[in-house]
Amino acid sequence: MLYNVHQIYEGAVFRPPSEARSLILQITIGCSHNKCTFCITYRDKDFRIKSFEEIKRDVETVLPHYKDARRIFLADGNALIIPTKDLVKILSLLKDSFPKLERIGIYACPQDILKKSQYELKELKEAGLGIIYLGLESGSDMILKKVRKGVKSKKMIEAAQKVKDAEITLSVIFILGLGGKEATKEHAQKTAEVLSKMDPDYIGALTLMVIKGTEIYDEVKEGKLEILEPRDVFEELQILIENLNLTNCVFRANHASNYLPVGGTFPKDKQDILVKIKRILQKDDVSFKPEWLRAL
Ligand code: SF4
Repeated sequence: MLYNVHQIYEGAVFRPPSEARSLILQITIGCSHNKCTFCITYRDKDFRIKSFEEIKRDVETVLPHYKDARRIFLADGNALIIPTKDLVKILSLLKDSFPKLERIGIYACPQDILKKSQYELKELKEAGLGIIYLGLESGSDMILKKVRKGVKSKKMIEAAQKVKDAEITLSVIFILGLGGKEATKEHAQKTAEVLSKMDPDYIGALTLMVIKGTEIYDEVKEGKLEILEPRDVFEELQILIENLNLTNCVFRANHASNYLPVGGTFPKDKQDILVKIKRILQKDDVSFKPEWLRAL
């Protein structure tokens, strides 16, 4: 979450861990889907696309403080939903305003990617879009349906392929523990299978946080979903990593929600990651991050 120093943000603003040093600009408010049972992020916001005039005003406000910005991240939830011609106009404004700009990133739902033609994605790449963050959450269709993600794994793979064909860097996020104890094996195996087919440039693993106000919180309270203990999370991660086959991918589980940081580059670090997980699982006295320190 970010502090609203320049008074340009509406509500809480979120960004991927790798955009920690980026200038964040909100070009949409909220998430157009806003139905996932585990997600509290944009519950309090009605989705809307900001006008070009509003975005231009935000840029003018932050410009004196961030004129040397090298990276910009476009929030909120799925800013790629913006029609291509409008998004190209925004990207051009950013490139003209920030002369040292090297990369522009954005969150996307698979539906947003699939709605754009291959030509449009290429146009966005040429206009400066450098990285797309896609929320897979799980590779299991059963879990995706249960958490109301609104899309099946096959469509996720198609969306990933389109991003790669447009030569835009692809970062995919999933959530450890999302299937609870009952579906931990299925979640690990299917997510590894889908991630291997997507073969993205980056993978970010989060760990499920059960937040009051979400449907998944009620499920846990009612005993319908048994959440994983920290040790179970690492058993799940072990199965996932064992089944993960990637050609060249940075894998990170260093988000604030994770119990311990794990990461490396696939395929070269796969065995080292597995050794680290094995050590964690063998020890009786591992200091997992306490619940009060975990965050979204
Ligand atoms: S997880 Fe992503 S798609 Fe689902 S409600 Fe949250 S922001 Fe929207």
